[in-house]
Amino acid sequence: MTPSPAFPSGSACALSLTFDVDAESAILAAHPGAWRDAMAMTHQAFGPRVAVPRILRLLAEEEVRATFFVPGVTARLWPGTVAAILEAGHEVGHHSHTHVTATTMTEDEQRADFETALEALAACGVTPRGHRAAMWQATWTTLELVAEHGLDYDSSLMDDDRPYVLKVGDRRVAELPPHWSLDDWEQYAFLPVPEIGTQIEAPSKLVELWTVELDAQRREGGLVVGTMHPFLSGRASRAEAIRAVIEHARAAGDVWIAPLGDIATATLAARDVEERVPGPPDLSVGPYPSD
Ligand SMILES: [Zn+2]
Repeated sequence: MTPSPAFPSGSACALSLTFDVDAESAILAAHPGAWRDAMAMTHQAFGPRVAVPRILRLLAEEEVRATFFVPGVTARLWPGTVAAILEAGHEVGHHSHTHVTATTMTEDEQRADFETALEALAACGVTPRGHRAAMWQATWTTLELVAEHGLDYDSSLMDDDRPYVLKVGDRRVAELPPHWSLDDWEQYAFLPVPEIGTQIEAPSKLVELWTVELDAQRREGGLVVGTMHPFLSGRASRAEAIRAVIEHARAAGDVWIAPLGDIATATLAARDVEERVPGPPDLSVGPYPSD
């Protein structure tokens, strides 16, 4: 298939490396009271404390710029981490404030969480261009908030593997779709209490999953959004898996490796990128309850 018109000429597909710096927030949101658990909290603190510096060194060695989605809570607990990411020349995006999923909140709660995250990032000198919903569980309201606040892109929806444009009112927002198969959580997340997953797969499995998708997208002309969590992928052998994916892409010679912000800019500027109006399916065909 012809490569997405958003990609530079000569690029068969695109690869973006993204890191969700959840740290403590994801567990505090899903498991109230987990702050008492020193093992769980330090397991999460490994992300900003050790993993992010390691990942920043690796990205510098490989000369790759990446996107880091930072919850407002992480920005407040670890402002030095945000500063280090910016200092290294990477992009910082919006990843909710509390990491509570939007699907469990009222519209007012969603707005408060979204806007508090903007304030927390602003305190670190960040005006985010992109958004990723906690657990990717955006609502239709989330997309309106992204548009209302003038962000250029979202990376939460799963109805494509090529960049496209969301039309929300009179705003255009690039959508850069992720997928669960390209998420390190499904391979590495293990914590018995509170349970966040039961997997400890070999890093080689992640390399295989991601590189076969990359090779397939070199034929399909799409976008590979790799999603990682520093507290998981920042362990030493797993960081080498990131390097292996980068080196595979480089060796192919026709993969555009870029942060999501650059891909969003190209998507919004390109002609012939598909535009869609987001919204739920027509429930009356069921019927299904609408509340
Ligand atoms: Zn997250």
